[in-house]
Amino acid sequence: MHYLITGGAGFIGSHLAEALLAQGHQVTIIDDLSTGRFENIAHLRGRPGFHFAIDTITNEIVLDRLASECNAIYHLAAAVGVNMVVQRPVHTIQTNIMGTEAILRVAARYRVPVLIASTSEVYGKGVRIPFHEDDDVVLGPSIRSRWSYAVSKLVDEFLALAYQREVGLPVIIARLFNTVGPRQTGNYGMVIPRFVEQALQNQPITVYGDGRQTRCFCDVADVVRAITGLMGHPQARGRVFNIGSTEEISIEELAHRVKAVTHSNSPITHIPYDEAYAPGFEDMRRRVPDISRIHDLLGWQPQITLDETLIRVREWLRHEHAKHATTTS
Ligand code: UDP
Repeated sequence: MHYLITGGAGFIGSHLAEALLAQGHQVTIIDDLSTGRFENIAHLRGRPGFHFAIDTITNEIVLDRLASECNAIYHLAAAVGVNMVVQRPVHTIQTNIMGTEAILRVAARYRVPVLIASTSEVYGKGVRIPFHEDDDVVLGPSIRSRWSYAVSKLVDEFLALAYQREVGLPVIIARLFNTVGPRQTGNYGMVIPRFVEQALQNQPITVYGDGRQTRCFCDVADVVRAITGLMGHPQARGRVFNIGSTEEISIEELAHRVKAVTHSNSPITHIPYDEAYAPGFEDMRRRVPDISRIHDLLGWQPQITLDETLIRVREWLRHEHAKHATTTS
């Protein structure tokens, strides 16, 4: 099979590219390197069956050619990260909506199945835990820019499902819940790379709010297994799937776990949301997926524990530091 991965130089995309190549597939990635990094895929250059295009997915000429050459598309290119969403809302909305529209349009032209990476953000402030794919969503008002991300991703979901219904394009929606692992950068707000970096530098670990908000963190290797499984299953088409861990942890407890795994002396400090993000910022208190749908279809469930992931992230960051020290010395 020949797969196209949009956002293939990003955190999840680069792990997916590696996994598909290891299974003997051909992989083409397209990435504009806005948040993806060439370093994430540099080691894949020259591998048989690997191709890349540094371009935006709104370049229709390039996209048309790439879509015509592949058998299926993983659409991961998006503006992500709470910092990015709060600081660049126009960019977020445009990238997520216009980018997905462009992908679906070319995919429909060549009848190429598409898996769309969506997000647990779409559940918003829902209080019925765990979140099930068919639950109602509860979003905040449009004056709070955080919600633009959830809305842009929901539009993507509606659009993809509409393409399936109206023109018969096979689509799969994967709602990812806090995916973590090596190569994830803390630059756009993601908590685990930020905490591990802070701990390794013995700097204060910055817990936002009271730290009692909870999340479930899922290792990227488990997520790659889930999305490749969905792509290969004919009954996944036209459906929405939660993908995440069910191991719930508060952010305060996470800070302690990171300290333990890194043997760090960092103090744990609390920063009000208004200071960390923007005045009036609204966070989710709890976010836990119901993963019975993907489990019933594929037998999938996460295999990597949070501590194992924290160790993987720690080792990756240490390696990055060492690399950086060598190149600057
Ligand atoms: N968070 C934190 N300190 C940080 C970054 C994030 O306490 O330096 C909190 C954030 O407010 C949220 C949780 O960690 O409650 C997860 O944040 P992340 O941006 O990783 O993902 P989200 O679930 O918000 O999309």
